[in-house]
Order: sequence, then structure tokens, then C-alpha cells
Amino acid sequence: MLEKSSQAMPPEKSPSSPAIAVEMFGVGASFGEFEILREVSAQVPKGRQTIIIGPNGGGKSTLIHCLLGQIPYEGRIVFDPPRPRIGYVPQRSDFDRYLPLTANEFLALGLTRRPIWLGLSGVIRRRVKAALDLVKAGALGGKPLGGLSGGETQKVLLASALLTDPDILVLDEPATGVDVYGEQLLCELLEGFKSCFTVIMVSHDLATARAHGDWVICLNRRVVEQGPPEKIFQPATLSATFGLHQGLIFGSHQTEPEVAPAPPSCCH
Ligand code: ADP
Ligand code: MG
Repeated sequence: MLEKSSQAMPPEKSPSSPAIAVEMFGVGASFGEFEILREVSAQVPKGRQTIIIGPNGGGKSTLIHCLLGQIPYEGRIVFDPPRPRIGYVPQRSDFDRYLPLTANEFLALGLTRRPIWLGLSGVIRRRVKAALDLVKAGALGGKPLGGLSGGETQKVLLASALLTDPDILVLDEPATGVDVYGEQLLCELLEGFKSCFTVIMVSHDLATARAHGDWVICLNRRVVEQGPPEKIFQPATLSATFGLHQGLIFGSHQTEPEVAPAPPSCCH
């Protein structure tokens, strides 16, 4: 496991900052007649990293959109304390990277009412640069969004989420399309964020969930199980979540192991 990096910690946050807990009660969501989520009840502990795992189409992004209040849902989602600032890093496929803006201009959008075409003030430039430096992307500011690689785009989206000074940081599949260096940076940042704010991350990567999750929610249209990683990384739980035999998740076994072997770590 990597050392916690104080550099990765947002400057305005400290380990003593208040963090937010979230509780979901019987959340249901549908698109037209098609029911996506049913009776989802789960907890997100305060100030910890919660990882949502589950198969493609299992409703992970839909649940995130419910949390963000972007789509209607049944049931209740309670934030404690209420009305937190939520920083959101969307799934890369949900982001239009061909907006005709540089990374600096994109990041400045939420910080100023002044039209972008008038140029950025010194104060805004410094805030944007600080956010990019935090995610080790200081050199990307002048580049057009459309010219960024997958990993670079993710860094800019993460900088954008951090600029909102979030109480909760929500990341949807942040490692998708990112190379091994990007993954390592993400691991470092996640470690640095511990105790700074509540993190909710969707990940299809079991190694990431096991290495960084304090709490794991297994979602396949409903909550199959939730708990600390040692409870979740059991063959029966993973099979019930992904609907696969363990051999397909961890390599072939003649008989199912009693404890799921660790997947290759994302950090080593
Ligand atoms: P995951 O993030 O776990 O892969 P999603 O929440 O994206 O799953 O999707 C869950 C299901 O909802 C999928 O079957 C998907 O096709 C469907 N879905 C997602 N968004 C929409 C939409 N806007 N309209 C109709 N169906 C959708
Ligand atoms: Mg998704």
C-alpha cells in the first residue's frame, strides 16, 4: 500500500473536516417500464471510502445519479449533515470531451460568471492551476479537451470535482481507460483523500475495491451484500453479485476456495 501523500490532500481540507454519512432507504428507479433499481437500502459511512461493485448494467451509475438528485427515484436518500457539496467525476463515456474549450476554460466554468471568451482572471487562473497541480496535471491547462488522452481527461474531471470543495467525492469508474500510471496516481490520491472527505467510488476493479475500500456495496439491481472488504471478498458473495463462478473472477479452481484469493493489487 502506498504511503499517504499529504500533497494529494486538498489544501482547504484537513483530517478534522466534518464528513458526511449517507443512508439509502428502499431506493427504486426505473427508465420507463424498465425497473433498474429495486429496494436499495445501503449505508455510506462518514469520512470513509465506500466502493460500489457489481456487473455491467447492475445499476451502479443509476444509483449515483439518484444520489446526485439527477433522476427521480422512490424511497429516501438521507445525508447527515444534510445538503452536502458533492464533487462528481462522471464515467468518462458520460462526458462530452469535444467541448471546444481548453482544460483551463472548462475548469473555470464553475468558478466565474464572467464570459470565458473575455479570458480568465489571475485569481481564477491560480485556483485552476492549484487544482490541476493537485492531480499532477499542471501542464494540461492550455490543452484543448478534445486533445486529452483518457487518463488526462480523468485528471481534469477530478480537478473539476475538487474545485467544488466537496464534502463528498463521487467517482464513477475513474480507472476506466486509464493506463497503469494513471491508476497508480488514482491510488495515491485515494489514499491522500482518506479522512479528508467521504468518498463513494464505483469500480468494476475488485483489486481497487479490496485495496482502498473501507466499505463495499455489492449492487446488482438490488443490494446483494454490504460491509467491510473482508466480509465481501468471499466466493459466495462475489458469485451472488456477479452471477459468475469464482473461476471466472479469480482464475480457475477445481473447487471453490473458502476465502476468495486477493486479486492482483492495483497498487503493487
Ligand atoms: P452500470 O453503471 O452498473 O453498468 P447503469 O446504471 O448504467 O449500470 O445501467 C443499468 C441499466 O439501466 C442498464 O440496463 C442500462 O441499459 C439501463 N439504462 C441506463 N441509463 C438508461 C437510460 N437513460 N434510458 C434507458 N435505460 C437506461
Ligand atoms: Mg456505469
